[in-house]
Amino acid sequence: TAGLMAGKRGLIMGLANDKSIAWGIAKACADQGAELAFSYQGEALLKRVGPLAESLGSDIVLPCDVSDGESIDKLFADLKERWGKLDFLVHAIGFSDKNELRGRYIDTSRNNFAMSMDISVFSFTAICRRAAAMMPDGGSLLTMTYYGAERVMPHYNVMGVCKAALEASVRYIAEDLGRDGIRCNAISAGPIKTLAASGIGDFRYIMKWNEYNSPLRRNVTIEDVGKSALYLLSDLGSGVTGEVHHVDSGYHVVGMKALDAPDM
Ligand code: NAD
Repeated sequence: TAGLMAGKRGLIMGLANDKSIAWGIAKACADQGAELAFSYQGEALLKRVGPLAESLGSDIVLPCDVSDGESIDKLFADLKERWGKLDFLVHAIGFSDKNELRGRYIDTSRNNFAMSMDISVFSFTAICRRAAAMMPDGGSLLTMTYYGAERVMPHYNVMGVCKAALEASVRYIAEDLGRDGIRCNAISAGPIKTLAASGIGDFRYIMKWNEYNSPLRRNVTIEDVGKSALYLLSDLGSGVTGEVHHVDSGYHVVGMKALDAPDM
């Protein structure tokens, strides 16, 4: 196949359904000739992920719960058996108890803080170490973050703290693996209506606010994210590592409410 991703093999982690950010990225990569493998969390998701993978010509669909180190080991052992080498990896995984994605950050519990950090932050580091071991010729690692890492957003709470840690880990991983030709970056996406986002309080309001006040005056789509991911995952991004790239209609540059924004 011709295309930016021709001859490249990538693992996509975090596909739940056709609204997932992982799906936008997978489609963009497959469109440019990438060969894809997918991991999914829990048997219930297989009946959604299986057909989606198949529609992009992939028959590698493997279970992985990232809160379990053995499950991650098994995923990479199975992938190594199938492919041997890996060129890119997409981590589009996050989780927190939705009871803590509303109200005040300060009320966050020790247990949910630890679990959210484990699944949403540590998992990326754990996965990058295994993926890098399969990238003797270099590669590209990508995770997903949100502006709530940089600024306080209503209800984002413990996830904002997690995303800040995730962004910091992107920089450390970039340094650790850079000498091996492995790049590590994050995309900071604007709000998109997905399964994970539906757990966040007042999410519709946040979507509207971003639509009215971002320079592009619209929300981003999973296709927007997919196209930017393509740049970071392909050789177009060959000089870029340790970066947090905003795909948010420019919202992060704005200093106050737009003068033409409707009242809400
Ligand atoms: P999604 O619900 O489609 O995807 C979240 C995925 O995380 C699911 O596939 C789920 O199975 C997986 N997951 C959760 N716990 C897991 C575990 N223990 N093991 C393995 N997988 C697990 O939602 P999404 O919005 O596409 O989320 C993808 C990423 O994008 C997340 O990191 C999210 O924080 C980030 N993000 C989302 C938005 C948004 O507005 N939707 C904005 C910026 C960043």
